[in-house]
Amino acid sequence: MVLAGSETTTPHVAVLVSPGMGHIIPLLEFTKRLAVDHGCHVSFLNITFEASAAQIQLLHSANLPPSLHVIDLPPADVTSGLVTEDTPILTRLCLIVQENLKCLKSVLLSLDNLPKALVIDMFCTQAFDVCEELSIPVYSFFTASPTLLSFSLYLPTLDTEVIDCQFVDLPEPVQVPGCSPVRTEDLPDPVRNRKIDEYKWYLFHVSRLLLASGIFLNAWEDLEPATVRAIRENPFYHQVINTPPVYTVGPIIKDTETVSESESGSQCLRWLDKQPRNSVVFVALGSGGTLTAQQITEVAWGLELSKQRFIWVIRAPSDGSPSGTFFNAGGEANSNEPASFLPEGFLERTKDMGLVVPSWAPQMAVLRHEATGAFWSHCGWNSTLESVANGVPMIAWPLYAEQRMNATVLEEDIGVAVKPVVEAGKEVVTRDEIERVVRMMIEGEERKAMRCRAEELKESVAKALSSPGGSSFESLSRVVKEWKAQV
Ligand code: UDP
Repeated sequence: MVLAGSETTTPHVAVLVSPGMGHIIPLLEFTKRLAVDHGCHVSFLNITFEASAAQIQLLHSANLPPSLHVIDLPPADVTSGLVTEDTPILTRLCLIVQENLKCLKSVLLSLDNLPKALVIDMFCTQAFDVCEELSIPVYSFFTASPTLLSFSLYLPTLDTEVIDCQFVDLPEPVQVPGCSPVRTEDLPDPVRNRKIDEYKWYLFHVSRLLLASGIFLNAWEDLEPATVRAIRENPFYHQVINTPPVYTVGPIIKDTETVSESESGSQCLRWLDKQPRNSVVFVALGSGGTLTAQQITEVAWGLELSKQRFIWVIRAPSDGSPSGTFFNAGGEANSNEPASFLPEGFLERTKDMGLVVPSWAPQMAVLRHEATGAFWSHCGWNSTLESVANGVPMIAWPLYAEQRMNATVLEEDIGVAVKPVVEAGKEVVTRDEIERVVRMMIEGEERKAMRCRAEELKESVAKALSSPGGSSFESLSRVVKEWKAQV
C-alpha cells in the first residue's frame, strides 16, 4: 500500500482497535476525523478474527475517505484451546487481542512508512512493547467515561491498598481521588472478583495506561467537568502516579449511517416519520445486550401497558450472559422470529403503537429523529454519547461491563436519565415499573427537567466540536500539530 503526501504536512498515523462494535465504531470515527479534519493519512488496523456481521459491514462500506486505509490483520485462531464458549467476555476479548497482535511488528514494518504515532484502544496495550522497539509513540484512546478513566487510573493503587477482601465487600464506597465516590454495587464487572482472569486482564491493561504519550478521552470538557479537572489537577494523578496528558476530543460518535442498506433500518425511519414529535421510546441494548426470556416478557407487557409508542430492537432471549451478542452483533440467529419469544398476540395488539426490529437498528439516525422522545439504553458509553449529543433523555438499564457506573453518573451527576427500580428480591424489572418509567419519560412532568438538561448538553456538544475554536476540535488539533512538527 502506498501512502502519498509529505510526512510533515500529512503525517501517517496508525490506529489499532480491539474487537466489539463499542470499540470499533468510535475508533473508526476518530480515524475519519484524523483523515478528514486534520489532514492525516491513517492506517486502521483491524483484528479480523471472528469479525461480526456489523463489523464487516461497517469497515467495508464505501464511505471511507481516501486517506484512510483499513488493514486487515491476518486472523490468529484462538478458539482451538485458548478460549471456549464459556470464556467470559473480557478474557475472551483480551486473548483474541493478544494472539492477533503477534503479527503487529511485521504489519507496522510492512507499511510504506512507519507511523508517526499509534493510537490504541484500552485493551491493545501489548502494542506498547512492539512500539518501544520501533520507537513509535503510542497514544491510548479511552472508549469509556471520564469516571471510568479516573477509577482505572486509581485501580493499581487500590489493588495494593486493599489486600484482604474483594472491593465489592468494602464497607464504604471507593473514594477515587478528587471524584465522586463509586458505590460498591456500581463497580464494573471486571473488578468485582479479584481472583479471576477478568480482573487480572483489566488490571494489566489499565496499569499500562501510564505508558501512553497521551490519552484521548471520548468526552468533552462540559460532560463530567469535575472528574476531568481532578484527573488534570489532583496531586494523586501527577505526584503519586505519572498520568500522561489527557485530551478531551469527544464526543466521537457516528456521523452518518448507511441506513438504506438494511431494510429494517429504513423501515424504522419511515415509521418514525409518521409519529408525533418526542413521542417514541427507543429500546436498544447496544451491540451485546440480551435479556432473559422472563425479562423480555415483562418488557413487552410494560410497553404495551404504557400505551406509549416504541421501537424495540429485539434479540432472542439469553438466559446466560447479558452480553450474549457482543461478538456477533448484527448477525445473531433466531432474532428474526420475535413472535416465537414474545407474549402471544403482542405484535398484533401493539402494531399501531410500536415497531419491533430484530437484532440491529440505525441507532444514530433514530436518536436524531425528532419523533424520538426517550432512549431506553444499556448505558454503553457510545450509546450514552449518542443520546446526549442528540438531546435525548434516557431510561438507564445497565447490563454489563461498566454500565452500572455510567447509569449512576447519568442519573445523579449529569441529570439526563432515570433508573427503573428493581424490587428487593426480584431478578427482573417488573412490567408495572416499566410501564411507570416509560409513561413518565414520554408524558410525565419529570421528563421536562431531563429534556432541558439533555438539550443543554446537545448545545455544548456542538460548541465543543465546532471548528475552529471548539475545545474538542482544538485538543486533537494540538496533538496532530505535534505529530506534524516531528521530523
Ligand atoms: N448500535 C447500533 N444499532 C443497534 C445497537 C447498537 O447502531 O441496534 C451501535 C450504537 O449506535 C453504538 C454501538 O453500537 O455506537 C454500541 O456501543 P456501546 O458502547 O453503546 O455499547 P456496547 O455495544 O459496547 O455494549
